[in-house]
Amino acid sequence: MNSAAIPLYYDGKTSAGQPVDIITHEKEMEFHFTFPENGFHVVKEPITINYTGCTTAHVAEHLYVYINGSGAEYLAIPFTHPSYLTIRDNIIHANPSWFGRLMNMHVGVLAFVFVMLLVGGYFAIANVVPWVGLKIISPSQEKLMGDKLFQAFVDIGETDSQKTRLVNEVAHALELSKTYNIQVTVLQNKEVNAFALPGGRIVVYTGILKSMKSGDELAALLAHEASHINKRHSLRSLLRSSAVAILISVALNDASGIASVLVENAETLRNLGYSRNLEREADASGMQLLLDNHIDPIAMRNLMLRLQEAYGKAPDMIAFLSTHPATQERIDNANAFAKKYRSREYAVNAVVSKNWDLIKN
Ligand SMILES: [Zn+2]
Repeated sequence: MNSAAIPLYYDGKTSAGQPVDIITHEKEMEFHFTFPENGFHVVKEPITINYTGCTTAHVAEHLYVYINGSGAEYLAIPFTHPSYLTIRDNIIHANPSWFGRLMNMHVGVLAFVFVMLLVGGYFAIANVVPWVGLKIISPSQEKLMGDKLFQAFVDIGETDSQKTRLVNEVAHALELSKTYNIQVTVLQNKEVNAFALPGGRIVVYTGILKSMKSGDELAALLAHEASHINKRHSLRSLLRSSAVAILISVALNDASGIASVLVENAETLRNLGYSRNLEREADASGMQLLLDNHIDPIAMRNLMLRLQEAYGKAPDMIAFLSTHPATQERIDNANAFAKKYRSREYAVNAVVSKNWDLIKN
């Protein structure tokens, strides 16, 4: 073999390179030393070098392999040497760049990373859009939106105009909102359900009126729904569930698209489930509204018990429990709240009790 083509190993201690035979393996290479010294063949123990941690440089027709980062211990392989390419590729493979590492990953891991990026992006959008929306949408715009949504609902059931008038009188006899004009519509529907639209509208089904036993329970329902409105829970949920579509409308600079996106979500809103936290907030704020109106907040707990009873009788008919789940925790909280104010004097609201008698019949 031409001596120029022999790899030289520099051990970092002696300045002269030692010729080596190299045996390459998948993860490491072996250097075998055998060279004449003073006329005898001296055989040194071979050494094994792992590719991981090796760096390479191409200098003057040699591949320099730096073995442990110090630069003192290295191997110089002539380009003409048969193992030059194998060693170079093995080192690249053992020490990939971040991109190389990504490309070496299993397809499943890559798919997982991709899905996590998508999910993360979605959650970012689902949180940022409502946050911005709540800041820029005024109560009057909110009302327009609620009216549009309401138009999409009118076909769902016949309006009970007499009960609508009676329940509205109850709502207006109470102080339910400082910002919004609360407007109630009673729809003829056996479902035990009620929901709030952004901007002040409350829709009450005759089914839920039937399950109640007192005017105070009706006041509790209105206070709970009005709290969802006051705290802009419907708007928030709507913005959240439409976040991606809204963002697309914004990106396309299509302002009218945003309104229609929200209206298209009308059906979503009807079946809208609030998070536990929002329900807790609406209960607490609703009971405070009852207190402010001199109504015993125990009515909130009674309403929840009534809904639970109705659930036992006809589970399919009770949508209110699924959109506002009446968990034992909520009943316990309502109970605890009412207990705190048990010793208060509560007045009978004349409109509430008079209208309740008429609604009941
Ligand atoms: Zn609720």
